[in-house]
Amino acid sequence: MITAIYFDHSATTPIRREVIDAMDPYFAHRFGNASNIHRFGQQARKDLEDARKQVADIIGSGFGEIIFTSGGTESDNLAVQGVVRARKREKNHIVTSSIEHPAVLNTCRFLEQQGTAVDYLPVDTDGVVDPRTVEAAIRPDTALVSIMLANNEVGTLQPIREIGVITRARGIPLHADAVQAMGKIPVNVDDLNVDLLSISGHKIYGPKGIGCLYIRKGTPFAPLFFGGHHERGYRPGTENVAAIIGLARALELADAEREGFAADMHHLRTMLETGIREKIPAARFNGHTEKRLPNIANISFQSMDGETLLYVLDSRNIAVSTGAACASGSADVSHVLTAMGLSPALARGSLRFSLGRLNDENDIQQVLNVLPGIIDGLRQGEAKK
Ligand SMILES: *Cc1c(COP(=O)(O)O)cnc(C)c1O
Repeated sequence: MITAIYFDHSATTPIRREVIDAMDPYFAHRFGNASNIHRFGQQARKDLEDARKQVADIIGSGFGEIIFTSGGTESDNLAVQGVVRARKREKNHIVTSSIEHPAVLNTCRFLEQQGTAVDYLPVDTDGVVDPRTVEAAIRPDTALVSIMLANNEVGTLQPIREIGVITRARGIPLHADAVQAMGKIPVNVDDLNVDLLSISGHKIYGPKGIGCLYIRKGTPFAPLFFGGHHERGYRPGTENVAAIIGLARALELADAEREGFAADMHHLRTMLETGIREKIPAARFNGHTEKRLPNIANISFQSMDGETLLYVLDSRNIAVSTGAACASGSADVSHVLTAMGLSPALARGSLRFSLGRLNDENDIQQVLNVLPGIIDGLRQGEAKK
C-alpha cells in the first residue's frame, strides 16, 4: 500500500468504490456478449444501452450519438481522423491549437504527413485561444476545428461556445477534448456548440481503457477500424461492458457531485497557491486566474529543474507532475508552457499539482511545510556551483 500524498489527478485517478461495485457483476455472471440473441446477450445489450443513455443524458446528447472507445486517446483519434477521412476529397484542412493533448497534436502531425494541411493556433499568455484566430484560419477546405475544452497541464478553459458559433455558421464540425473538464465544469454539447466531444473514464475516478466519443447526428465520419456492426460500425469490436458500466457510473457520480467537488478543489488550490506565493520567492503561476479548472495549479520556480523537484518531492512522499503529458524520462519542454510564452528554462522549472478527491488541507499543509526548504536548498546549491 502506497501512503504518499497524491497530487497527480490529471494523470489518473483511483477508481471509486461505487464504480468497482457497479462493475463487479460484469466480471462474473453478467459476462454475455451484447451481440448475441440469447438471454445472456440480451442482458448485456440492455445494460450496455442503459449505460449509453446515462452518458447521453449527462452531456445532453441523443442516445445514438455516443460511441464507446478505449479511452481519451482513441476518442481524439477517431474524432480527428474520422471526420477528415470522411471529407478528404473536398476538404483537407484542420484548425487546432498549439496546446492540445498529444492525442490530438500527434494525430494532426500524422495527417500532415499524409497531405492534410493543419493550422496550430497560438494562445495568449494565459493559454487561451482567441476565437478570432479560429475565424481567420478557416478556409473553404476546412474539414474540422479541434480545440480542447480544458487544458491538462495548466487547466485553462477555452471559449468553446464562442468558437462553436463561428464553426456552426460555416458548417464546419467542431471537436472538443473534454477529458479534463468532465466532473469539474458543466458540459452540455448543445450549450457548447460542439459536434464531437471526447471523454475518458480514468480521469473521473472510473476505469482505465474506457472512454467515449460524442458524434452529433449528421457529422461526416468514416471509421478507422473495420469489423462487425458494434457501435454503429463506427467502432467495431465486442463491447467492454464492465468498463462501460464503470464509465457511466463514474460520470453519473462526477456529474451529481460536480458543484461541491469543484468548490472543495478551489478551496484547496487557493490554500496551496496562497501559501506558495507567501513562502517561495520567484514563483510564477501559470494558466488563467479565473477561467481555469478548479483543481490544477501549475507553478514555475525560477532557476529550478521541475524533474529534480519531482524526484525530491517523491522522496518526501509527495507525488506531483511536471505537467507535460507523458514527459517522464523525456527531456522535452512543455509545449503548452512554451506556447504561452514561457522561456524554455522557466518552463523546465514547472510543477503541476492536480488535486482530487483524495486530498485535504493536511496534504496542502505538508507541501507548504517541505517545498520552500527543498527549493531553497536546491537554489543555494546552484548558487555555489
Ligand atoms: C488523459 C488525457 C487524454 C487521454 O486519455 P486516455 O484515456 O488516457 O487515453 C486525452 N486528452 C486529455 C486532455 C487528457 O488529459
